[in-house]
Amino acid sequence: RAADLGALIAARVRDVPDYPQPGVVFKDITPLLADAGAFGQVVGAVVAQYGAGAVDKVAGIEARGFILGAPVADRAGAGFVPVRKAGKLPSQVIAASYDLEYGSATIEVHADAFTPGERVLIVDDVLATGGTARAAVELVRRAGATVVGVSVLLELAFLHGRERLDALGGVETRALL
Ligand code: AMP
Repeated sequence: RAADLGALIAARVRDVPDYPQPGVVFKDITPLLADAGAFGQVVGAVVAQYGAGAVDKVAGIEARGFILGAPVADRAGAGFVPVRKAGKLPSQVIAASYDLEYGSATIEVHADAFTPGERVLIVDDVLATGGTARAAVELVRRAGATVVGVSVLLELAFLHGRERLDALGGVETRALL
């Protein structure tokens, strides 16, 4: 049940106040990852959000989206694509920048990571302002592929990231908590 899964996650995500800067409460998922049963249930729940054969590629956002996205891809029978911070991928890339509270950030994927028409699920641990996920949607779409959804472990609803993704149109945002 969704409520049970929510409780299971909530009990294994540690709030770290004032990290990485004053005023931010960091959601630390390492206790969840360290729990074999809970990790497996979370992966299974994300896979179950889409039917068998509904996803061609999982795009995981650096770095915790790699940890969650790779087992989701494997279980969903999909390939895995790393969405990386600027300057980390070795071959030709496409890039998208987005605004942060102070300054901006850039994420990249390999230019040949997606085939036009592929169905792509974007995975990350936390949806906050939605800026990162929005840029990831843009990258997938620029590659000619289709975003079937954005799945996160937890959503910080007071930051309204879901609304920023809804504004793009056609993106299904799902949070387990
Ligand atoms: P945003 O672009 O504002 O939605 O931020 C999402 C990205 O930043 C994700 O990759 C998260 O891993 C990370 N992030 C943002 N806020 C937090 C938080 N409070 N705790 C943990 N990770 C966060």
